[in-house]
Amino acid sequence: MPFRNARAALLLLAIAAPLAASARITIVNANDPGVGFNDPTPAAPVGGNTGTTLGAQRLQAFQYAADLWGALLDSDVEIRIQATFEALDCTATTGTLGSAGPTNSLADFTNAPLPGTWYAVALANRIAGRDLTPAAPGHIRAKFNSSVGTLNCLATSQWYYGLDNAHGDAIDLVSVLLHEFGHGLGFLTFVDATTGEEFSGHPDVFEKHIRDDSLGKTWDTLTTPERQASTIRTGEVVFDSPRVVAAVPGTLSATPTLSVTAPASLAGELAVGTADFGAALTVGGVAGDVVAAEDPSDAAGPTATDACSPLTNAAAVAGHVALVDRGTCLFTAKAATVQAAGAIALIVVNNVADTSALAMGGDDASISIPLVSVTQADGASLRASLAAGVTVILRLDPDRRSGADSANRMLLYAPNPVEDGSSTSHWDTSAFPHLLMQPNLAGDLPHDVDLTLPLLQDLGWSSEPVVPASPRGAVHEVAREETPRLIGPRP
Ligand SMILES: [Zn+2]
Repeated sequence: MPFRNARAALLLLAIAAPLAASARITIVNANDPGVGFNDPTPAAPVGGNTGTTLGAQRLQAFQYAADLWGALLDSDVEIRIQATFEALDCTATTGTLGSAGPTNSLADFTNAPLPGTWYAVALANRIAGRDLTPAAPGHIRAKFNSSVGTLNCLATSQWYYGLDNAHGDAIDLVSVLLHEFGHGLGFLTFVDATTGEEFSGHPDVFEKHIRDDSLGKTWDTLTTPERQASTIRTGEVVFDSPRVVAAVPGTLSATPTLSVTAPASLAGELAVGTADFGAALTVGGVAGDVVAAEDPSDAAGPTATDACSPLTNAAAVAGHVALVDRGTCLFTAKAATVQAAGAIALIVVNNVADTSALAMGGDDASISIPLVSVTQADGASLRASLAAGVTVILRLDPDRRSGADSANRMLLYAPNPVEDGSSTSHWDTSAFPHLLMQPNLAGDLPHDVDLTLPLLQDLGWSSEPVVPASPRGAVHEVAREETPRLIGPRP
């Protein structure tokens, strides 16, 4: 009887199998004895991770993240990830958490959907139905920083090895793993971000979906100089693929924006960065006149525009939208200062020339006003017009999803100047809620692969036909070393 039941169960599984995605992902421990995954330092089990040494906990977190991905992918070919924990680039305040990429890129293999086009080896294997590089120790090479939390490397941070995402202020290893494995599975272009050159003179499958909205063309149809110019065209470089476009409305919130309503010469929408704290923006928004906050130039902050000390013009700021420069003190401190003066909202102006939205980290439940950041250039325009009177609304634009263009194509990270290892092979920083494949690790990520899965499916990780959700989902259809993710308190 038990036998028959078991048979029935097996049959059911056999029938269900084609519907349920799965792929076997194996971690190949490439560390030497005594270090990295083999580090014998005793460790107390944490958050579902039952390892009792540092090395065992690292390995368990790796396999956990690999299994999360494995349950979502569909491949008959085992995916081997050659992994190490080792010292990577780092300073006391910012550093590389990890990096990963395909060990090989392949083109014109059995069943290759597009001729003369590079695919990450794990994806090529899946499509070909066999291991095309059986002798390689791994299909993905992944490195993670063993120095995090030491004096000269993100000194105030540490890895969280638990599996339950209860990482608090620590860096959630599972989230970083999910991100890096995403690159290894194909979330990257092989185009050289600095020169615009294609890898070995051929396009890659990811590149074929990269579109420059200002040109209305995909990257594979551009010349090398045109791709080089496009790489830094912030806000115009998007990923155009049908499953991602279809998933955008259900994934991302309306776009935070700063509507300038006067003077007429500045009227329009300014791109903004948002904060992890403060009042949430609303469609109705908070409207007011903009007033520059003034504070003493003192030990707390060297300029009279940084709001690092109590304001000297609090009466003028009360009831209005305060304008403050980034720098020296935390974003939470600036918000607390202008809120104490009676400001109804805050605009933080970046103090460095950065074309991408500045995300403002921090945690302070006492901040009850909304705040946004603007670029240095936009901040200068606002400040120059204050005497004439500037009125704004901090709000959500319901007609556009954050991090996407007006056709729901996702913006790719295209900062000027190029950031090697980050440019193009990530989502833009303006996407909210935060996404797995943004270039900086967000502290609020669920253990979820959000838009990464539909993107990978559009590259070839699914054979299911695409149901067109949008008439613009033109179907077009990516491998090496990626350098990665930066993190830091960014005051
Ligand atoms: Zn990355």
